[in-house]
Amino acid sequence: MSAHRIAVIPGDGIGREVVPAAIACLERIAELHSLTLEFTPFDWGSDYYLQHGRMMPDDGLPQLALHDAIYLGAVGSPEVPDAETLWGLLIPIRREFQQYINLRPVKTLDGVAAPLASEHPIDLVIVRENNEGEYSEIGGRMYRGLPQEGAVQEAVFTRLGVSRAAHYAASLAASRRGRLTSATKSNGIVHTMPFWDEIVAETVSLYPDVTLTAEHVDALAAHLVLKPWTLDVIVASNLFGDILSDLAAAVTGSIGLAPSANLNPEGRYPSLFEPIHGSAPDIAGNGVANPVGQIWSGAMMLEHLGHTQAARHLQTAFEAVLRDGVRTRDIGGTASTAEFTEAVLSMIDAQA
Ligand code: ATP
Ligand code: MG
Repeated sequence: MSAHRIAVIPGDGIGREVVPAAIACLERIAELHSLTLEFTPFDWGSDYYLQHGRMMPDDGLPQLALHDAIYLGAVGSPEVPDAETLWGLLIPIRREFQQYINLRPVKTLDGVAAPLASEHPIDLVIVRENNEGEYSEIGGRMYRGLPQEGAVQEAVFTRLGVSRAAHYAASLAASRRGRLTSATKSNGIVHTMPFWDEIVAETVSLYPDVTLTAEHVDALAAHLVLKPWTLDVIVASNLFGDILSDLAAAVTGSIGLAPSANLNPEGRYPSLFEPIHGSAPDIAGNGVANPVGQIWSGAMMLEHLGHTQAARHLQTAFEAVLRDGVRTRDIGGTASTAEFTEAVLSMIDAQA
């Protein structure tokens, strides 16, 4: 079995607590499935920024390019402007490595009480376009300090960008329940959103087993709260996908549970796997962070690297631990990060 080189960026705050916890689980899984995972740590993030004035070194991207995957904890700190963390690390990585899909599975987990109780299990995936759309640098500020002061920000949608996101989402939907919902707002945003709708419809028509519904993002947000179990795969632009996926994660429990993958689906460049939560400075250093989002992101990484069995083993292990009632504080339990992780390690062994 060939070795996988994995660049590890624990980052800041609880990233430094949940990443080692999840790596312990990944190492145990690797051992049991005869995989070789070589983890190389990088101390980039906010401390690095405070010392060097940037989030990662100038040759950071070429260093990461030598790896098969990037495993990130969280970057962010009250002492560093949010825009620096995003534009100094995450966005350059997403763009350089053509990680044009942000994948966020959302499902109810046994043993975790969701804030909106319902007897229907939720199992959906949000496919967020990750390289263009509303997150563009194009625009500017004008007439600063004058009464007519203003700001302009352009959104950029390309045929390539929209169609590859739509292809990914449609083929994912075809492998699941065959229902694809596209987030739009073509009633208010009259150029880019109709363009998005056209290309999504054109692309999805190539998938006869997939039914496409376009829903305005405001209605879709309400849909996610009221009847999330009726949704299968959602495809959305960069901004809409960002908002919908945090909403969807909140609907199923804690932000500490939710994983994500920033994918270069062709595997030409490394993909990045990270929990959706941030560095959580309010609880950092206390050893109480929920490592599930990080562990689940690790399972997605194994899957992406082609190790479906190993990924399932890890997934069923942490799900079983939650079902058994071992919970961290954010989801109403008392377990520490270390105690939860120990329980997952034992479950991995028990299920081997
Ligand atoms: P950042 O600036 O890095 O995004 P943030 O404070 O804006 O950090 P989060 O880190 O996502 O955002 O935290 C939001 C809330 O959720 C905080 O109260 C935090 O303690 C809680 N939280 C986030 N992740 C976890 C986790 N893994 N376990 C427990 N609680 C968490
Ligand atoms: Mg935040």
